Amino acid sequence: MRRYLSTIISFAILAFDTYWAYDISGGSIMWAAIVCFGIIAMIFAKVPMCCFGLGAVPIDNVPADEQTLLQSAMDEVLQRVQQKEGKAVKPKLYICDNGTQNAYSVGGRIIVERSLLWLDRGQLKAILAHEMSHFICADSMCTAIIELNIFLISIGMIILNVSIGLFAFLIIAIILSMLFSTWISIYIASLFGKFIKWMGELTIRISLFVHRALASLIYRYMETGADIYSVELGYGYSLMRYLRNNGQINTERQSALQLLLDDHPAPYKRIALIEKKMNEQNSITQF
Ligand SMILES: [Zn+2]
Repeated sequence: MRRYLSTIISFAILAFDTYWAYDISGGSIMWAAIVCFGIIAMIFAKVPMCCFGLGAVPIDNVPADEQTLLQSAMDEVLQRVQQKEGKAVKPKLYICDNGTQNAYSVGGRIIVERSLLWLDRGQLKAILAHEMSHFICADSMCTAIIELNIFLISIGMIILNVSIGLFAFLIIAIILSMLFSTWISIYIASLFGKFIKWMGELTIRISLFVHRALASLIYRYMETGADIYSVELGYGYSLMRYLRNNGQINTERQSALQLLLDDHPAPYKRIALIEKKMNEQNSITQF
C-alpha cells in the first residue's frame, strides 16, 4: 500500500484534472492535453527549481572529504536497499547549505544539508534511508501535484470570487438605478458586492483549510512510512538519536490545528513509532 500510494494518488489527480479540463471545455481534447502535459511539465520543473531554491550542487562539485563522507554512507544504504528491494536504485546526490539539519528527496535526486555530513555516521545513514523511502515511493511527485492543485484551486476561486462580486455589484446597481438615484444605487450595490465577496473569501478559506488538512494527512503518512523504512533497513536506533539530538523532540501537546495541518508527525510520536517497530522487528528475530 505505502509503496504505490503516492503513484496512485498522483495519477488519480492527473486523470481528474485532465477529465475536468475536457469536460469544462465542452469536450475539447486539445484543452485536456494542454492541462495534462502542463501539469506533467510543472512536476518535472519542480526538480531544478527545488535545487536552485536550495542552492544544491551535485556531489561531484563539492570538496573531496565531503564527497567521501556522503558517498560512503550512501553506498551502505544503497546496498541494504538493494537487498530489500531485489534491485539496484541510484539517486543523484546533491549537497546544499541552508543551516538546517534536513535532507530532501526531489524527483531522482536526494539533497543533503552540509551540516548532516558531520553527524555521526549512523544518523546520516538513517536520514538517507528515510529519504530513500521517499525516492522509491515517488513521494515528491505526489507532493508536487497536490501542491499544484491546491495552488490552482485557490487562484481559480479568488478569480471567480472577484468576478462574481463585480458581476453582482453591476447587476444590482443597474436594477436599483431604475428605482433610486445613481449614488444610492452604487452605495447599496457596493454593500451587496462586498457581502458576496466576503462570503466568497470565507468559502475560499474553508476550502483551503480542507485541502491542506487532507494533504497533511497524506504527507504525515509518507513521513511515517519513510521512518518505518529506515527502521527496516536497520537504522531505527540512529534515526531516534537524530530526532532526539536535533532538538526536534517536543513533548508539548499539539493543538488540534497543528494535529490537522502539520506535514510531519510530532517528533515524540515518530520516536514512539520507531521504538514500536524496532520492538516488533526484535520479536520477529527472536521467534
Ligand atoms: Zn521525510
